[in-house]
Amino acid sequence: MASLPKTMVGAILTGPEQIDIREVNVGRPDAGELILAVHAATTCGTDVKVFKRGGHPRMLKVPTLFGHEMAGTIAAIGDGVTAFKEGDAVVVANSAPCGVCDYCNRGRENLCEDLLYLNGAFAEYVHVPARFVAHNTHAIPANLAFGKAALAEPLACVLHGMDACELPRYAQTSSAEVIVFGGGPIGLLFVAALAKEGHHVILADPNQSRLEAGEALGASKTVIINRGGGQADVVRALTDGGHGAWIAVDATGVPEVWVDAIKTVRPGGLINLFGGCAPGTSIPLDTHLVHYNELTIKGVYHHHPNAMRRAIELLSKSSFQAELMLSAEMPIERTEEALRAMIRKDALKVVITGTERT
Ligand SMILES: [Zn+2]
Ligand SMILES: [Zn+2]
Repeated sequence: MASLPKTMVGAILTGPEQIDIREVNVGRPDAGELILAVHAATTCGTDVKVFKRGGHPRMLKVPTLFGHEMAGTIAAIGDGVTAFKEGDAVVVANSAPCGVCDYCNRGRENLCEDLLYLNGAFAEYVHVPARFVAHNTHAIPANLAFGKAALAEPLACVLHGMDACELPRYAQTSSAEVIVFGGGPIGLLFVAALAKEGHHVILADPNQSRLEAGEALGASKTVIINRGGGQADVVRALTDGGHGAWIAVDATGVPEVWVDAIKTVRPGGLINLFGGCAPGTSIPLDTHLVHYNELTIKGVYHHHPNAMRRAIELLSKSSFQAELMLSAEMPIERTEEALRAMIRKDALKVVITGTERT
């Protein structure tokens, strides 16, 4: 702990579209805690949302450090931490379940009644509370680069989302045909993870460069769609015989696209509504279609510690090329520029790493 400085550079969100780069305290670890030296923090759609809105009702209130996808090495550990030592390379998840509530006991820790969130990855260090150390900090193998390792959190969400797709039920004798709406980072991770298991993925997005990224990550077919929904026929036409896919995943969080997703599966199909829509929105539901076609409609949210472990395992495989989504590297001082590049769709994800300060 001798080398741990008193202060560090951090990106502070102070209001809607306002970031201050400040010198802030690093702190020291209490019992059960650790200090993570951040080597890579990847930007995410949630960070963009938080940046635009100036906070998040559940996760953070301004002024605050932010950023939540992180990998690095342990700079200091508090008393009683035995699972890790200083210098270990780890990923720390952005949430920690309580481990004792009814949901945790049922293995549904993403719905924990007392889920804690951790933010502050766009900084040199992160002060990691004891519950995160105990339940959701994971060692990473030496061959896994920090930038790629930071993708463990979004990939864990996607692996949890893949479990919800009930793929063994739909791919008993062969691979399943899956439509993914939305070619942002989450949609592309779905494409990569589904393709890795041999499934046929049709990716639909309004942006040509995102479709190309989808092809590089294993999509079988891609299709340009207009924004704002009404595109079900265009997408369904690409499915086997035009009958619809077994599974459709929404990775947009746009209500009109949820409606399209429901219309693109075949009878008996499953719709995975993965993209979170804004509060207060609703969709019209074709009740006849849902009943007579025996559709399964699922809402899916977040991740749990077991999915984090599986995500790190998958990222460790060189054949799983999630690093293709890392568009650029920038220091902490350029966090705002990184988020604006994402808003313009010039970047899928940016790796925030280190400081300009020497
Ligand atoms: Zn994220
Ligand atoms: Zn719990």
